[in-house]
Amino acid sequence: VKKKAGKYEKQAKAVKQTAVLGAGIMGGGIAYQSASKGTPILMKDIKEEAIELGLKESRKLFAKQAERGKLTTEQMAEKLTHIRPTLSYGDFGHVDLVVEAVVENPKVKDKVLTEVEGLVAEDTILTSNTSTISITRLAENLKRPENFCGMHFFNPVHRMPLVEVIRGEKTGDAAVAATVAYARAMGKTPIVVNDCPGFLVNRVLFPYFGGFSLLVEQGADFQHIDKVMEKFGWPMGPAYLLDVVGMDTAVHANEVMAEGFPDRMAREGKTAIQVMYENERLGQKNDKGFYAYE
Ligand code: NAD
Repeated sequence: VKKKAGKYEKQAKAVKQTAVLGAGIMGGGIAYQSASKGTPILMKDIKEEAIELGLKESRKLFAKQAERGKLTTEQMAEKLTHIRPTLSYGDFGHVDLVVEAVVENPKVKDKVLTEVEGLVAEDTILTSNTSTISITRLAENLKRPENFCGMHFFNPVHRMPLVEVIRGEKTGDAAVAATVAYARAMGKTPIVVNDCPGFLVNRVLFPYFGGFSLLVEQGADFQHIDKVMEKFGWPMGPAYLLDVVGMDTAVHANEVMAEGFPDRMAREGKTAIQVMYENERLGQKNDKGFYAYE
């Protein structure tokens, strides 16, 4: 499924002004990363609180860099000006590339993507940060599917080097080229992958979460599993990782995976992860998941 990203770069259109839809865990992180590397970004959400949270996180990350002497106070203030928070589509006409990072729900994504396609210039590249939903499927309602591809970041965006650039059936080379170039400008390592539910990384990760969930359902202690996986050499165990990802995102992503691969991913009954979600233990986003947070 892996293709070399380098071959696309010669054809890349310049990406000078970008926008992200959604100011949540991922949207906020994408805005920070773009601003930190000098590409201005509009950050749009439908909730004022989400925008405030997204900005707060960016301020915190820039302040940490200033504390470490990597940025002066002036540089920090300048970088923050690259993030333009908004509740409206007002300035979207001048954007070269949009990253959609709203909730993992195909209906919401369809609505947002068709809305924004109607407002941007004809050659604006649209991308989706979906974790699992097929890019070919999301392109179905678009008028210019050749300008659309996946741009899948990992959480936390500022620390995770990989970005999957996903080529749907109708994605054109120019969209892939611009997205690869933008990922590199953000200091990331892009890989171009073909389209399928879960792409590359989540096809490996979600069966692992499924295995973890089964063990918990059979009575295993989640903290013990985390400790074992850390000793095995992974930077964090599955329970902690699920808290970082968010139980809502994990449940919605797993539904898409189960639909795509019913023989391997569909399960009878409720998983431990679903039970957590139904009990509103979403993870770090609401300070309680497998672990409790302050
Ligand atoms: P989140 O719940 O933290 O944020 C989603 C944001 O979208 C919220 O702020 C919400 O207000 C906003 N939103 C909803 N409808 C909107 C609309 N119409 N216009 C603008 N904003 C809207 O979710 P998240 O974890 O940031 O996930 C966002 C996307 O990124 C999902 O597709 C998810 O699968 C994907 N993703 C998540 C992770 C992760 O670890 N959480 C990793 C990679 C990719």
